[in-house]
Amino acid sequence: MPVTRCRLCGSGRLASVLDLGATPPCELFLTPDQLDEPELTYPLHLRVCTSCWLAQIPPLIRPEETFTEYAYFSSYSDSWVEHARRFAEDALDRLAPGFVVEVASNDGYLLQHVVARGVRCLGVEPSANVGQAARDRGVPTRTAFLDPATGTAIRAEHGPADLVVANNVYAHVPDIVGFTRGLRALVADDGWVSIEVQHLLTLMELNQYDTIYHEHFQYYTVASAQRALASGGLALADVELLPTHGGSIRLWARPVEAGAAPSRRVADVLDREKGAGLEEIGGYAEFAERVAKVRRDLLRFLIDAAEAGRTVVGYGAPGKGNTLLNHCGVRGDLLAYTVDRNPYKHGRFTPGTRIPIRPPGQIAEDRPDYVLVLPWNLRAELTEQLSYVREWGGRLVFPIPSLEVTP
Ligand SMILES: [Zn+2]
Repeated sequence: MPVTRCRLCGSGRLASVLDLGATPPCELFLTPDQLDEPELTYPLHLRVCTSCWLAQIPPLIRPEETFTEYAYFSSYSDSWVEHARRFAEDALDRLAPGFVVEVASNDGYLLQHVVARGVRCLGVEPSANVGQAARDRGVPTRTAFLDPATGTAIRAEHGPADLVVANNVYAHVPDIVGFTRGLRALVADDGWVSIEVQHLLTLMELNQYDTIYHEHFQYYTVASAQRALASGGLALADVELLPTHGGSIRLWARPVEAGAAPSRRVADVLDREKGAGLEEIGGYAEFAERVAKVRRDLLRFLIDAAEAGRTVVGYGAPGKGNTLLNHCGVRGDLLAYTVDRNPYKHGRFTPGTRIPIRPPGQIAEDRPDYVLVLPWNLRAELTEQLSYVREWGGRLVFPIPSLEVTP
């Protein structure tokens, strides 16, 4: 089924930005039994709509396929849990909501702080096993995908929400318009919707192309997000720039009926995006060549290290790592294994590249010369966590925005 139409505005004017070839879904970690079975790959081709400037990939994988046994439990990252705590505390202090709904509430990492403050809340989480983890920690959670019908049903049952939170999900929904209408159905007419999503401006400026993967169907500027929100009856009121995921935006939206005007901060970011050329095709022209250089530099480093008899292992097995490893063509001869804190991944193998995943303790046991850090967005946290590598003269390697070996 060829992709010819923009999912937001329906235009047929889609221009190629970056073609990463074909790779398996980045969260489908393989068990040892699966190594002898065929592995399905899907094209990973980023295009931008030259009418509404929404960057997008075809939604080849249905969310149900990746979310039903989703390997990512938010609570495995300390800095992520702390980020969520600060957001929840600030929002509760500032808005004093009586009822909070979080969409894609994961394992309750955020709503646990709302529960602790005695505020009524509900999580909406599509993944059954992850939602159960949330209920186990006392966070009321409904297993569902958000669409207009689910939003309307929840509103009828629980009343409208004063605050609807949708963090790290707005890129994951193929039906943007339906999802946005679902948000509108949930939120009170004078309520707030808060959305965190990766910012295409920093993705492009800092070569974060490994955050492009099949589960991320769209990549937003504030300008394209504003258009997406409008498609469901929401108006962008304010925006915050966040360092999470290498550069994210927190959008504050309200129902159109609330009559909120965009803040000065919205105007400033829109100006920056325009200045970077993201509302014209020229702004997208050189990205593919910068990405090709990231690949050449990483491969050159890994090949040189292998030929010099140095050992290189990975740290982390995030989805983005799999885009990078697959695009660069890294295999076990260049990266012996990687480690991850999430026990779900231990004993499994990275999709496509089939690199074994072990518990983090393996690094201290083996004392490798280099540790390639795949979740580079957690750089500060991981540089500290991995400081013990220096005890034996080991060094950390960051592949993005450009290859860097720490002294
Ligand atoms: Zn469009």
